[in-house]
Amino acid sequence: MLELLPTPPADPLWDLAAAYAHDTRPDRLNLVVGVYRDHTGVTPVMTAVREAEIRLAERSVSKEYRGLSGNLAFNRAMVSTVLGADGPADRAAAVQTVAGTGALRLLADLVRLTRPGATVWISDPAYVNHRPILEAAGLTVRTYSWLDAEGRSDAAGMLRDLRDARRDDVVLLQGCCHNPSGVDLSFEAWQAVAELAESSGWVPFVDVAYHGLGDGLEADLRATRMLAARVPEMLISVSCSKNFGLYSDRTGCAIVLSPSRRTLGHVETSLQNIARTLYSMPPEHGAAVVTTILEDEELRSAWRSELDVMRGRITANRDDLVAHLNGLGHADQAETISRQKGMFSTLPLTADQMRVLREQFAIYGTVSGRINIAGVAAHRIPYLARGIASVLGTVDAARPTPSAVS
Ligand code: PLP
Repeated sequence: MLELLPTPPADPLWDLAAAYAHDTRPDRLNLVVGVYRDHTGVTPVMTAVREAEIRLAERSVSKEYRGLSGNLAFNRAMVSTVLGADGPADRAAAVQTVAGTGALRLLADLVRLTRPGATVWISDPAYVNHRPILEAAGLTVRTYSWLDAEGRSDAAGMLRDLRDARRDDVVLLQGCCHNPSGVDLSFEAWQAVAELAESSGWVPFVDVAYHGLGDGLEADLRATRMLAARVPEMLISVSCSKNFGLYSDRTGCAIVLSPSRRTLGHVETSLQNIARTLYSMPPEHGAAVVTTILEDEELRSAWRSELDVMRGRITANRDDLVAHLNGLGHADQAETISRQKGMFSTLPLTADQMRVLREQFAIYGTVSGRINIAGVAAHRIPYLARGIASVLGTVDAARPTPSAVS
């Protein structure tokens, strides 16, 4: 049987990560995968998470199955975090999922169930897993413009493309800190998107994965909340991987808004049925940690402070990279990067230039130019800037250090 298995396509991100693991050059920088690293290069367990884990270990009495919707207190906490304390919680159904990816897949399956002919529109460029997840659910995918030729937000192009979206379609948007570009819509552009959704009738599907890491938790959720207040139906996938640092605990939530209570009941049961055939019930640990934090005033404020520190470090890294690129004579590229937000930046470099960056400087980003700006220790920013300047052509400023070419 197995010899008939076709050669599977390799995952480009994990291939790069594997290449990095074999790279022994001392100056190597792994900026491929989107994880936050502190100034020592470690992806830390947040102090609030550690404290919640201690409390949970002390009081846990059972690991009995949870229901198909997972941890209900967690779901309520996610609805209130994402939609806000006075958000439309009364017209929301929520189920705990296996991280943000699980929420994306569950919601994609729900779309397929309710509108089998729907097209889902994603940004170009998009998070690398959006198209595969949607296509695996049997949906048709089309793209809308996201960036103009200078790498700025192309709201006009996006709205133009979305005029082709039909009433039965779904438009997948990233709530903040767009992956891979780091480029977000202005709030005014978000309002124009909401207007178009209202007039055309298509359903917004918002992927919220980086809230708290762009402009702050409330600011990062502002557009999602505005949309939720305006449109009758909406899908939201939430990830706790980045803002709670719970990457391997696979913690997330699928939220669906509908004006009808009867529909909400059907939505929740449908999501449960879909989960039942995939993994039955989501893992409890991460959800219990998040709930413990969000339900305790002291832990919640400790978590918010830590999140602010993480965001501050990401912003400082980006500002520093911009300053160094300016200093090396690359004001245009620096300006492009200065407009980006969140964990990722897309460098204005070609795939070939990214290869040179990898081969000559041991700096690993994706072929599309994406780097994880949250993955660089602050003292390595000058090295990163010199590498970028070198591939852009100011060779003198950037000759690799001997260790980097050894
Ligand atoms: N959505 C976006 C835009 C992402 O960048 C990611 C992860 O990188 C996810 C969803 C899924 O995250 P996870 O499944 O780790 O929670």
